[in-house]
Amino acid sequence: MHLATGITLLYLLAAVLFIVGLHQLSSPRHARTGNLVAAGGALIAFLTTLLVLHHSPLNLILMAVAIVIGVPIGAVAARAVRMTAMPQMVASFNGVGGGAAALVAIVEFLGRPAGSSVPLVVSISVVFAVVIGATSFAGSGIAYAKLQELMRGTPITYPGQQPVNGAVAAAIILLGVLVVVSGIGVAGLWLLLLLALVLGVAFVLPIGGADMPVVISLLNAFTGLAVAGDGFVLGNPVLIVGGTLVGASGTFLTMMMSEAMGRSIGNLLFGAFGKIQAGPEATAASQRNVRSSSAEDVGTLLAYSRRVVIVPGYGLAVAQAQHAARDLADALEKRGITVDYAIHPVAGRMPGHMNVLLAEANVPYEQLKDMEEINDTFKSTDVALVVGANDVVNPAARNSPGSPIYGMPILNADEAKNIVFMKRSMRPGFAGIDNELMYDPKTIMLFGDAKDSLTKLVAAVRAA
Ligand code: NDP
Repeated sequence: MHLATGITLLYLLAAVLFIVGLHQLSSPRHARTGNLVAAGGALIAFLTTLLVLHHSPLNLILMAVAIVIGVPIGAVAARAVRMTAMPQMVASFNGVGGGAAALVAIVEFLGRPAGSSVPLVVSISVVFAVVIGATSFAGSGIAYAKLQELMRGTPITYPGQQPVNGAVAAAIILLGVLVVVSGIGVAGLWLLLLLALVLGVAFVLPIGGADMPVVISLLNAFTGLAVAGDGFVLGNPVLIVGGTLVGASGTFLTMMMSEAMGRSIGNLLFGAFGKIQAGPEATAASQRNVRSSSAEDVGTLLAYSRRVVIVPGYGLAVAQAQHAARDLADALEKRGITVDYAIHPVAGRMPGHMNVLLAEANVPYEQLKDMEEINDTFKSTDVALVVGANDVVNPAARNSPGSPIYGMPILNADEAKNIVFMKRSMRPGFAGIDNELMYDPKTIMLFGDAKDSLTKLVAAVRAA
């Protein structure tokens, strides 16, 4: 077989594996395999690129250097990072990808033979990859700094912010068009890169709080599109397919997440969201009394229930209490009690956080119920056991128009016959607001670390 045909077929195989892997990621049951399949595709694409470059020792050496530096960093980071710090890791890897896409486009342009004319599709792709890639790089850097608490995580706003951002965006569009129609000037490209970096910073500064992961998902889509742009510049089909897949899936994820948080994308990007506004009702509520109880009493309540719904949240991840939750469910099921888990799409700190955690404890997939599926069943639930969750059951999302989470669909835990909150204190969750449900007469607070409390509950249920 001709080498070029073989290379095209291998790239095609890699692209097919990306698509199959992505498809498998949509279900927790196949997600692990999907990841491996897509990684296999990336490996084939990488080896094929080595084949393409076999006549260019300099490129091979540069790739070897990149591998020697990059692989240990990636491997160590992936193993060492805590699950709760995953969003910032995604932001940093994503940002680096965007920056690389921008630089590849520039380098490819600089390396063209002097005096050669640039086809329109290539010059548009270069401008596109530079602008989108650099915006993603700078924006992801700010997202990383905010999530890692290297800078203030709440929205940073200043007077005239929107017009300034609009002016930078307009300047980028104008310069981009000029660069394309007037035959690309290198100086123009560098200026575009600079403006895109400014836009990336300016675009993410006013976003904060709970909207951060949505922005990361959007920036992820940006990086994908920038890589697809590189694919057109380099004439590389696997970059076009891979980049478009990342762009499309990132866009869908962004839309699904903003819907789950009750935000429109327009508001998210231009509304300075995530602003923590502790309203007067929050302050007043925090001085009120709550009903707290012991693990023994809650254990007895659970043991004599017919249906219990566990509502896991960020605190479950912090406490690493997924195995203890599973033990409790097992102990309850042994007594003939029905147990389900109510999974809110933004519970925790990253999409799918609760699914990943509970899968780690081998919780059967059938027991993980999506919000739409479980919400109507809370009415017939004896106990909603809220383990380290807060915002995702906060009725302020329904009832308080001024609240930062107003409009976010929530789990109807308040409709259960009893609600047990397992957390360490009365401190608020991610959105920084009080939760009226904790003061509900049906609610019992079980204070303590989620893992300790769950372990005590298992003993109490077994003893009941
Ligand atoms: P929250 O952040 O609303 O609440 C978590 C609660 O867990 C806190 O109130 C805290 O209370 C408690 N907690 C912390 N550590 C422990 C522990 N060791 N043991 C027991 N409890 C503990 O979590 P939710 O999951 O309900 O909501 C997620 C929030 O995060 C939403 O606002 C969402 O928008 C946002 N978000 C979501 C992302 C995603 O993609 N999923 C990403 C980033 C943000 P205490 O300190 O008193 O123990």
